[in-house]
Amino acid sequence: APAHERFSMIVVPTDTKGYQIVRIVPVMGETSGGHCEIKYTDVRVPLTNLLGPRGQAFTIAQKRLGPGRIYHCMRWLGQAQRAFELMVDRAINRQAFGGPLSDKQTIQNWIADSAAEIQAARLLTLNAAAKIDAGDEARVEISLIKFFGAKVLHDVIDRAIQVHGAMGVSEDTPLARMYRHARFARIYDGPDEVHRMVVSRRIVSEFKKGRKWDFGRGIRRNGR
Ligand SMILES: Cc1cc2nc3c(=O)[nH]c(=O)nc-3n(C[C@H](O)[C@H](O)[C@H](O)COP(=O)(O)OP(=O)(O)OC[C@H]3O[C@@H](n4cnc5c(N)ncnc54)[C@H](O)[C@@H]3O)c2cc1C
Repeated sequence: APAHERFSMIVVPTDTKGYQIVRIVPVMGETSGGHCEIKYTDVRVPLTNLLGPRGQAFTIAQKRLGPGRIYHCMRWLGQAQRAFELMVDRAINRQAFGGPLSDKQTIQNWIADSAAEIQAARLLTLNAAAKIDAGDEARVEISLIKFFGAKVLHDVIDRAIQVHGAMGVSEDTPLARMYRHARFARIYDGPDEVHRMVVSRRIVSEFKKGRKWDFGRGIRRNGR
């Protein structure tokens, strides 16, 4: 079959004979069981467990991934804002070297940089969502926000941890957990590098066709 029609999606209930959880895979110290090694031995399920048409797994997965990535970006904005609030609060209340941390220029830069980056990620997310609402697949816009949003999340939490000093890496604030999850964000649903590749490939192909990249509209499809 053509490259994108070689896989099917099949629902396998976890009480099916031959289904086995081999082990929980610890992920950056977390052992909650969200990530497991699974073994399927001679597993059989009825034909009705086929999800969608045969050979259409790639299409189904892609259809889920677009909106799914936007959801991630929305959650990341909430997480980044929470980290930002913790950072500013700590900067105001922690006294060091004769005054509050918020009076130190480096900390002020971190607050300002974080504010700019969160707002940029917010607007990129809204832009991608508006494209989806208009019926566009918005693949470039989603890839842009997927890698940019993950980096903003990571960097804002990183600064918030630094402002908290040792307390930032303890489990006494939510920051340590948020940091682990922010690290995952740069990998799941496609690593940063793959999303950059998608964006670059698309832009380069437009230029090769003699067109330019329109930052206002991105690429127009179906006359939109
Ligand atoms: C916390 C977490 C949750 C996840 N949840 C799910 C889930 O619910 N469902 C699911 O299906 N999957 C899930 N994944 C899997 C995730 O989507 C993959 O791990 C991810 O797509 C990367 O694939 P890989 O691990 O095989 O890395 P690889 O494909 O081996 O890539 C490894 C590295 O190589 C580099 N690389 C790869 N391709 C390129 C390229 N074209 N150009 C440049 N560099 C490249 C990147 O740096 C990349 O990080 C999850 C992963 C994590 C960490």
